[in-house]
Amino acid sequence: MNVPSADPAVLTSSADRRTLCLVREAKGWTQRELASRANVNQSTISKSENGLMELKGQALRAVADALDCPPQLLTHPAPLLGLDVSCLHHRRRSSRLTVASKNKIEAVAHLSRLSVENLLSGYHEQTVAVERVAELDPPDPVDVAADVRGRLGLAPGPVPNLVAALEHAGVVVFERPLGSSAQDAVSSWPHGSDQFPLLIVNSGLSGDRQRFTIAHELGHVVMHRIPGEDQEAQADQFAASLLAPPEQIRPALTGLTTAQFRRLVELKPVWGMSVAALVRRARDLGEISDRQYREFQLRLTSLGWKTSEPIDIPAEHPTTLRNVLARRLAAGQPVADLARTALMTESSFRRYFPIPTRCGALTAENGA
Ligand SMILES: [Zn+2]
Repeated sequence: MNVPSADPAVLTSSADRRTLCLVREAKGWTQRELASRANVNQSTISKSENGLMELKGQALRAVADALDCPPQLLTHPAPLLGLDVSCLHHRRRSSRLTVASKNKIEAVAHLSRLSVENLLSGYHEQTVAVERVAELDPPDPVDVAADVRGRLGLAPGPVPNLVAALEHAGVVVFERPLGSSAQDAVSSWPHGSDQFPLLIVNSGLSGDRQRFTIAHELGHVVMHRIPGEDQEAQADQFAASLLAPPEQIRPALTGLTTAQFRRLVELKPVWGMSVAALVRRARDLGEISDRQYREFQLRLTSLGWKTSEPIDIPAEHPTTLRNVLARRLAAGQPVADLARTALMTESSFRRYFPIPTRCGALTAENGA
């Protein structure tokens, strides 16, 4: 384990009870599991998380070591919890996500946001060009997507590089393993003039899935303040309209029949959307009937395309964070310092963050 040497002053402070709980949940561990790994009593963990005792000194060190984090993270006075759960959104493959893994993803999102904010601080002052929909308006996802396309400065037609357009507009995209294939992304945009939308996307997604996921998350942060019932469908509609506005893609889908899979396979790289998403688009725009849509679903299943489609769309890789890390390294901050800034151990920092090497290539640990 690679724990930065703790400043003795840190060990005299006590862990923040909510931060402790969050870091434990980000590991997906129960209190009992953490106690056993840290070789402390379970009551030490439970009392510390309930504010009934102070976790400091050697016990703090032992718990931090078990959690593979610096004690400084545990004693961090929870500004991360100013980020309340209502501004977190998930793109998940429904039903596969248990409550424990939902808590884990949320904890990972809070902690990642803390690290990213600390790393960007002083190095990334960019005005956010997208705007939230006014609170009381029920959003029409198609109109909102058209407005967002304007703010992103997108030309009519397919979006060649969605991630680049978003980063140019001050949206931060962070690609990292989320530890579960049941979850594709999680996003947040806390209120405050200096806050930016952060979209955390699971690494290893296919390019078409990644683009739709990112567009979906953008829909959430722009349209939704408090999670609610219709929001998944609204975010999907937003994503489809952002990537393929109705009147721009309609001519390509007019007259589509189930004999024309080749046509869909040709459209896939043009629009950067999966065949499945194009078929949904055709149905939503009324270019195919519900009956045809069901036929398409049967054909997609029999072709095996529900699990693996032909034609790979290259994934898009964000550069904002990587460039800031490169500037910090060039300014003489070693990786160990960057890890401390991110409140992480150096080993887990190297695992999750895109650290540029001297020649500009990425270290390869980020692709898990
Ligand atoms: Zn969603």
